Parts: sequence; C-alpha cells; structure tokens
Amino acid sequence: MNDDPFAADVTVIGFDGDDTLWHSEDKFASAQEWLVDLLAAYATDADALARLQQIETRNRELYGYGIKGFTLCMIETAIEVSKGDVAVSDVERLLATGREMLARPVELLAGVAETLPLLADSYRLALVTKGDLVNQESKIARSGLAGLFETVTILSEKTSDSYLELFRRLKIEPEQFVMVGNSEASDVWPVIAAQGWAVLVPYPLTSMHETGFSRDLSSPRLRTVACIDELPALVSGAGGS
Ligand SMILES: [Mg+2]
Repeated sequence: MNDDPFAADVTVIGFDGDDTLWHSEDKFASAQEWLVDLLAAYATDADALARLQQIETRNRELYGYGIKGFTLCMIETAIEVSKGDVAVSDVERLLATGREMLARPVELLAGVAETLPLLADSYRLALVTKGDLVNQESKIARSGLAGLFETVTILSEKTSDSYLELFRRLKIEPEQFVMVGNSEASDVWPVIAAQGWAVLVPYPLTSMHETGFSRDLSSPRLRTVACIDELPALVSGAGGS
C-alpha cells in the first residue's frame, strides 16, 4: 500500500464493458455518419443528428439502450426527416447496419487482455454494464474475459441505487468498491454518490446520451487514466499487495 489513500480498502473492482473493455461507440458513430449522409437532401448534419437524439430520448423508456433500439430510431429518424420519402432500399441498409453492429467481433481495448488477469489474482472483479441483455451477454461470452468476473450485472440504467444494490449483493461496504469506466454519467458520479471510488478511462468518442455530464474531475474519490494498464499501480488497496 502506498501513502496515497485512494481506494485503500478496495477489494472489488467493477468494470464497465462498452468503450471500457471493448470498442462500441465507434460503430454507432459511423452508423450516424451514414444516416446523416442519407438525409443530406432533407436536413443539415446537425439537424439530422439532433432529430435522432430526440427520437432516441423519446423512445428510451420503451427501447432502453442498445443497438436494436438504435436501429429502430435511425429508421424513424429517416422517415421523419425525409417526410416519408426515404427509399425502402435505404431502410433495408439501415437494418443491415444494425445487424452488422450486433454481429461485429468483440475488439478489446489496449491493455485489457493483459491487465484484467493480473487484477483478478488480487481482487474480486465485477462486470457492470448496461444495454440490451442479449447483445451484452453475447459480447461478454465472445470477449474471452467472462471467466475473470465473479459477477456480471447488466442494468437498464446505472444509478447510485443500482450500485448500492450491487454492494449489498457482494456483501461489501462502498469504500471497498472501485468502478472503472469511460462514462462520467454512468461509471463515475453515481458510484461516488454511493461513497465508492471511480477510475475514469476516457474513450475518444462519447455517446450522445453520456455527454453533458462533465463536472470538476478533482474529486478525491476519482482518478483519470489514459489506459487500463495503469490500474494495478493505481489501485493498491486491501485486495492488492
Ligand atoms: Mg461505457
């Protein structure tokens, strides 16, 4: 243990999945670019994206997060923005884009394959992800990492209450938990509000739904790292040695 009290009592490390362990948002971004190009005759890029975001927000309660809902929202946006003019062949391409996103191979981010087994030697690891259940389960299975996690939790939203429920299930106190993720809104602030610790690993792209939450990052309960391979040195708490 070093002199820095950060995460000193941690025994469980929680990991987000999308854009923390594996790439995800890059494919949403390229699908959005294609949608914007498709609608160029009807709306500016910014307007088309704003409409997509409005439609996703409107449908969130029914669809939740994930690629299937996103695909339906792209189609709805294309119909609305084109005022019903969009070609059936383009709707077919949007559907195909969604299927390709669902079937894409899981590409781990740099440092993940080396660092997680190291941490699993000293800590209990928990995967805490959100989104579509079938797709998340499939990605976890294909990631090759499933065996490293004591528990896998797939949530519809990551709130302080859902983290507190996880602490109860794992029979730990909040200060024994550090969450590692790319999203301030999902992986940082709800955990800190629940009295846990957080490590932010920013991804170059941030989902439209996760932006606008940025706060002062100088919280004593938060560290920001560029790569997940910095974790073993950072988290040298009770679980490590
Ligand atoms: Mg994420």
